[in-house]
Amino acid sequence: MTEHSHHHAGGHDGPGCCGGDVIERAERLCGERDLQFTRLRRDVLRVVAEAGKPLGAYDIAERLSGAGRRVAAVSVYRALDFLTEHDLVHRIASRNAFVPCAHAHGEGAGLVFMICRSCGGIDETTSPEIEDQLGRTLARAGFRPASRILEVEGECEACLQREAAS
Ligand SMILES: [Zn+2]
Ligand SMILES: [Zn+2]
Repeated sequence: MTEHSHHHAGGHDGPGCCGGDVIERAERLCGERDLQFTRLRRDVLRVVAEAGKPLGAYDIAERLSGAGRRVAAVSVYRALDFLTEHDLVHRIASRNAFVPCAHAHGEGAGLVFMICRSCGGIDETTSPEIEDQLGRTLARAGFRPASRILEVEGECEACLQREAAS
């Protein structure tokens, strides 16, 4: 389940692109844009990156609390807003949970999340075809999207193979 929740599609750079280096990317991005990568923002990103599954804000707050530290969910939400805004994490609306993004897709890119109902894994991909088409559909309707994120539930390849083998 852990490997599966890595996002291994569009714009992938091969092994090592998941997990740890989202922190490096965050550091670089904050340096370039003169943004504060505070301790809390870093801690929240690390917890999300290491979780291997989508986490809600309360789960994150719980994981960061302890050993004399008490992190409120409201602070976690603020850190998540920052991280989401810069595409370091994405919010999965249907789960009200967050996943790390190790891709370097453009900000505001159209994203497709494939959410597996069997193992809970979430894969992320970009799809220029869908983006074009969706853009046209929205323009036709005179609708201005705040985000263009599609969430599709179903069964992932690994689970389907496991099923076929049993
Ligand atoms: Zn992403
Ligand atoms: Zn699965």
